Amino acid sequence: MTRKTNKTAPLLRLLTRSETGDITNPIMNEDFKQGVIYVRTAEPVIEKPEAVEINIISELIGEWLPQTIKRFNGCDCAVCRAEITVSALNEIPPRYVRISDETDFDEIKALKEELRPSVISTLVKLVLRNHNDHRKIS
Ligand SMILES: [Zn+2]
Repeated sequence: MTRKTNKTAPLLRLLTRSETGDITNPIMNEDFKQGVIYVRTAEPVIEKPEAVEINIISELIGEWLPQTIKRFNGCDCAVCRAEITVSALNEIPPRYVRISDETDFDEIKALKEELRPSVISTLVKLVLRNHNDHRKIS
């Protein structure tokens, strides 16, 4: 696999890695995130420090939506996932953090743990509110 960025990928892995490491999201996978970051930031200059800005809420939504949908047997099509993601992003105030080589990841981990319950409860509410089911359409 060709890395599109040098430092950003490990930084993102640190940020998005779950405690158990078993989070799998076919849409928001590592390549996708790397691609997004790659598009959003200029070509990295080797000698200069690199940093990206990330909405922790958005990260948490990406991590927890798939299993929330699964647990409550909601429609997991791309439309419903996007719809719920948009609703959650609009509902929960963003928490932006800058991530760079000097970032203290324990701080970000603590912030994610602090924000996780409200993100999950919002996702549960939105998943239960979504009565669409596009799974039978093939
Ligand atoms: Zn759907």
